[in-house]
Amino acid sequence: MSDRAAEPLRDVIARHGLQAARSLGQNFILDRQLLARIAAIPGDLGSAAVYEVGPGPGGLTQALLDAGASVVAVERDRRCLPALAELEAEYSGRLRVIEGDALEVDERAEVGADAHIVANLPYNVGTALLLRWLGGERWPPFWRSLTLMFQREVAERIVATPDSEHYGRLSVAAQWRSQARIAMNVHRSAFVPPPKVTSAVVYVVPAAMPAGVSPRVIEQVTAAAFGQRRKMLRQSLKAMPGALDALERLDIDPQRRAETLSVVDYVALARELS
Ligand code: SAM
Repeated sequence: MSDRAAEPLRDVIARHGLQAARSLGQNFILDRQLLARIAAIPGDLGSAAVYEVGPGPGGLTQALLDAGASVVAVERDRRCLPALAELEAEYSGRLRVIEGDALEVDERAEVGADAHIVANLPYNVGTALLLRWLGGERWPPFWRSLTLMFQREVAERIVATPDSEHYGRLSVAAQWRSQARIAMNVHRSAFVPPPKVTSAVVYVVPAAMPAGVSPRVIEQVTAAAFGQRRKMLRQSLKAMPGALDALERLDIDPQRRAETLSVVDYVALARELS
């Protein structure tokens, strides 16, 4: 292990003057043991391709490299680039850093098929990125797994089951053709600076895509149903052509509310409307 690899992350941050910027959702993790545990969630990364969003000073990046991965990382904050350049030199050929906004990067073109996505996400763009990775016509997707840090409350929405407080659009999006679970809770004190709330790492793998269902339609149905989650389905789905007839064909009581339908029910409904 070289000097840079062993250097405490606190010193890397001080050396490069990386004061965390709230506007960029910067909450850094400095504990290398914790970073190694996060990097272990997707399983053996020896020779695997990993796409990381927001490497910051590079703590998680380094844990991924140490686990054997080749990493493509996109970082928006130019101030972090010199610290990341040190890692690029250290792990020659296994790290490529792209300066830019993850929302604008064509990650499939950058990492190819079969990449694991691992990120301590900036909270302001986390949900948008997750929905993008879960969406799209093409399935299985270009990624093999997602290992993503969220605020605990968002993580609970991703894995929620029907009739629970957190169940909603995000739960259906994450479960209708994927499997999602909370892999780890991370206390706020693990971050510098500490965020206001507890965080959690969610692990998602693609599952088989149900036949005959358009991803666009299931998004539309769940948006309409949960957009008015306190209303009965006959009200919230009224504006959707064919939806009330579909409920009848499926023997789903139109007086039910969005949160009482299972993911399988939404799949069936979307299939009727696809
Ligand atoms: N990976 C580091 C760690 O675990 O300590 C930093 C995580 S920090 C929560 C989020 C990182 O994402 C920051 O470095 C921030 O600059 C970067 N970031 C914020 N918005 C971004 C965007 N739209 N595209 C790419 N990176 C972004």
